[in-house]
Amino acid sequence: MTQAMPDDLWRDFPKTATEFEARFATEADCRAYWIAARWGGEPACARCRSTRVWTIRDGTTFECAECGHQTSLTSGTLLEKTRKPLKMWFRAVFEISTRRTGISAKDLQRIMGFGSYKTAWSWLHKLRAAMVRPDREPLGPFVEMDEALVGGKGGPNKELVLVAAEAGGRVRLAHADTNDEATLERFAGGQVAADARVVTDGLASYNEQSLGERRHQAIVQSKAERRAKDALQTCHWTISLLKRWLLGTHAGAVGPKYLQAYLDEFAFRHNRRKTKGTVRIAARVIEQLVVRAPLPMRTLIDATPRYRWFASDHRVAGLS
Ligand SMILES: [Zn+2]
Repeated sequence: MTQAMPDDLWRDFPKTATEFEARFATEADCRAYWIAARWGGEPACARCRSTRVWTIRDGTTFECAECGHQTSLTSGTLLEKTRKPLKMWFRAVFEISTRRTGISAKDLQRIMGFGSYKTAWSWLHKLRAAMVRPDREPLGPFVEMDEALVGGKGGPNKELVLVAAEAGGRVRLAHADTNDEATLERFAGGQVAADARVVTDGLASYNEQSLGERRHQAIVQSKAERRAKDALQTCHWTISLLKRWLLGTHAGAVGPKYLQAYLDEFAFRHNRRKTKGTVRIAARVIEQLVVRAPLPMRTLIDATPRYRWFASDHRVAGLS
């Protein structure tokens, strides 16, 4: 089984671009780090757990001395079946992590010198999958909730995004079909602490059914009142940054099918905006590449169901 990255590895992670380049100068450097992150430095056979192994196939695989089973460095991780050196992946992680505004598939293609856009696209989606942390604490104790329409040039193609934001803190974003009570209930249930105090606008579906026991203040403001003191300032600020990011970095080219993946990336970055040394974000991304299960191309392409968790269509969920 894989484990979360040990603390000393995290503390020891490069803090600047120069340090990063020196630390991960060769493929052997990257492999050593990968092995440290994945197995605490001592690779174990995937079948019998023995640590009596030797490397074969140019160091990409090791073979068990006890049972003969062969384990690849990347099998069972997000990088399973990659044919590219880890050094290239580390480079890509560095690029996506250190640019405050992220990176488009076109940018990545150019930087990495990939022949095809499709390769860049699939890399970016794997890296993006590594930017979601599964163990996220719910938001609290003061949370604003709101919705926004994003994407699509002009009205009809816009997509609904649910927003929950701590005052001056973390945000969560969910692509949704609707903002009815059941959908908001599911969103709040997964993202907002049960004892949080919630501020919303006057939308009727923010109520006791959708918000449960949480203390709720519905504030209806005129434009003038909002200009003077916006009750949903953090949400509105987040939404405007999100729209700018989708238009800027991604030229507004984000389709509804993958919108949730982009929202996750935005939230990941946004929630780490105060992290000292953006290079350290790269450590978290590598950690997730190690601990997350493989995401085959097929899943990337057919990712829709996973990204519709909050849809009001109850067949999708299994989540209540
Ligand atoms: Zn074995």
